[in-house]
Amino acid sequence: MLNTGTVLVSGGAGFIGSHLCERLLGDGYDVLCLDNFYTGTKKNIRHLIGDPRFELVRHNIWMPIFVEVDRIFNLACPASPVHYQNDPVATVKTSVLGSINMLGLAKRRSARILQASTSEVYGDPQRHPQSEEYWGHVNPIGFRACYDEGKRCAETLFFDYHRQHAVDIRLVRIFNTYGPRMHPNDGRVVSNFVVSALTGKPLTLYGDGSQTRSFCYVDDMVEGLVRMMDQSSSIGPVNLGNPEEISIRELAERVVRMTNSASPIVFKPLPNDDPHRRQPDISRATELLDWRPRVCLEDGLKETIAYFRSVFK
Ligand code: NAD
Ligand code: UDP
Repeated sequence: MLNTGTVLVSGGAGFIGSHLCERLLGDGYDVLCLDNFYTGTKKNIRHLIGDPRFELVRHNIWMPIFVEVDRIFNLACPASPVHYQNDPVATVKTSVLGSINMLGLAKRRSARILQASTSEVYGDPQRHPQSEEYWGHVNPIGFRACYDEGKRCAETLFFDYHRQHAVDIRLVRIFNTYGPRMHPNDGRVVSNFVVSALTGKPLTLYGDGSQTRSFCYVDDMVEGLVRMMDQSSSIGPVNLGNPEEISIRELAERVVRMTNSASPIVFKPLPNDDPHRRQPDISRATELLDWRPRVCLEDGLKETIAYFRSVFK
């Protein structure tokens, strides 16, 4: 069934945003992609340009915008620790001013709006796995705070616009997501390891590598985002991620094996406030959305490695 209406995707030229734009066009929507290309790139969406239902506007969401849209996915925000810490004040402005502007637009248009929040709202969690009831353990003045607290404040804004102005919100907390179209210089672990392995450079393991993450393939994430937007039973928050937990050391070894790389693994200092463990409890998403990840880490890494091989061909 073809859908109608215009969906705005802020951050649509980014990694997850570009896959989402593609999916929404496939589902029949008109798509308005807003991006200031801070970490995203036109390359990610170049195959969509020329589609009469796709529109790209260079725009910084710190500024208000008046457009006629029916739904909004608010994804604009640098997500890699390297990039969000590069200009921390900009990161806070994107989460806070950007959310106010996107929520204001949703209010004027009576449009449903989904916020891409993050597992970082749980900080360095003291509860494992993390469920939505957990309030988190965040250092408010640390190097990651611009992102963590920015996203927490965005969550506050979403719930206050809902309570005060009856804006129709949806809130998801995204856990580490990876796949094709991550930027080669993104700085996040999967792209770093794959790029290093394919280019013969050392894989940089921060700390002793015993810290864990749980990695979700991008197609599964997009499916979760769409399902959350489409349902009318709950505004969230809902965790979206793959509960398959792995240590970063194991990830490095797996990437070396899967790429047949001769690259060594070298140890570097652990970044400030780097969370020790992270794993989503996805019971709520499973119950509400009948959603669970379909792509295991091995298969997702195969796709990601194939993508980066084509980039470096
Ligand atoms: P990304 O950096 O590839 O994409 C972010 C996009 O937002 C980029 O295209 C960037 O240019 C754009 N952007 C940044 N600031 C902007 C601004 N002020 N105005 C307009 N555009 C702006 O990151 P991603 O992995 O695709 O993440 C997308 C969203 O999902 C982010 O909000 C991120 O916080 C959230 N998220 C991602 C992950 C993950 O593992 N990928 C985990 C948790 C949350
Ligand atoms: N990491 C690493 N080497 C790298 C990049 C990251 O060991 O080249 C580690 C990082 O310290 C963290 C984990 O991998 O423990 C995930 O980092 P990422 O930046 O991908 O995301 P985070 O979950 O920390 O936001």
